[in-house]
Amino acid sequence: MLFTLLSTVVLIAIGLACGAALNALADDLPRRARPRLPHCLHCDHAFGPWQWMALVAFAARRRCAHCGAPLAWRRPVVELVSAALWPYVFARFGLTLQFALLSILLECLLLITVIDLEHRLILHVTIVPTGAVAALYSLAGAERGLAKTLIGGVVGFIAIYLVYLLGWAFGGLMARVRGQSLGEIPFGEGDVNLSGVIGLAVGWTGIVLALVVAILAGGVGALIYLAVMTARRRASLFMAIPYGPFLVAGAAMMLLFDSQIKHWLIGR
Ligand SMILES: [Zn+2]
Repeated sequence: MLFTLLSTVVLIAIGLACGAALNALADDLPRRARPRLPHCLHCDHAFGPWQWMALVAFAARRRCAHCGAPLAWRRPVVELVSAALWPYVFARFGLTLQFALLSILLECLLLITVIDLEHRLILHVTIVPTGAVAALYSLAGAERGLAKTLIGGVVGFIAIYLVYLLGWAFGGLMARVRGQSLGEIPFGEGDVNLSGVIGLAVGWTGIVLALVVAILAGGVGALIYLAVMTARRRASLFMAIPYGPFLVAGAAMMLLFDSQIKHWLIGR
């Protein structure tokens, strides 16, 4: 009992610290800036230690002490998700290598999601380490073996690469018909890389399901987005929608509920 309570407290603390670090990275990496301690995005003023953790800063005074700019809501949201993630994965997998690697992998995917939502960018500087963690998780955490891991990566990469080529061809055709230059295409290079990384993490049995979930969720998400934008009269045919978060949603489902989903599909 005491052990459970203590470990939960420790895990929440680890999650909060990771969340604060993730916020700092999500601030600096897209601006190609060297990551540094948390600072105001408006005036660059370094936050005092009491503002490093947004949950504390929000409780005290949710503004920059220097320029008065409000702190972004993303900060406490990321900290809460991150703080929930560690105890949850621990409850599922116990004190195992799988728990540690999966928690780190989900943190990496959370960072990619935040940057993609805010900047529509999936950076190499995030995708390369995430790929390494994904491969390590598959090999040492889920003990899936080298073949399943690598084939998963290749299938994930090629599947979204084909979608990317299709989008490019279709976009080019539409641009020619409408006499416009080629705008943004649905899936970008970053999505192709991310899909490959997810394939590494979930293996070739998981990547197909992960992509089906991602594409269905992406379709529903795109329709909702289109409806909102149409209502605001800002719709256009080639709006770039960040697909990274949907890919991550499909990945998270397969990473956390792999066996349940397969059990349910096979129907036993
Ligand atoms: Zn400021």
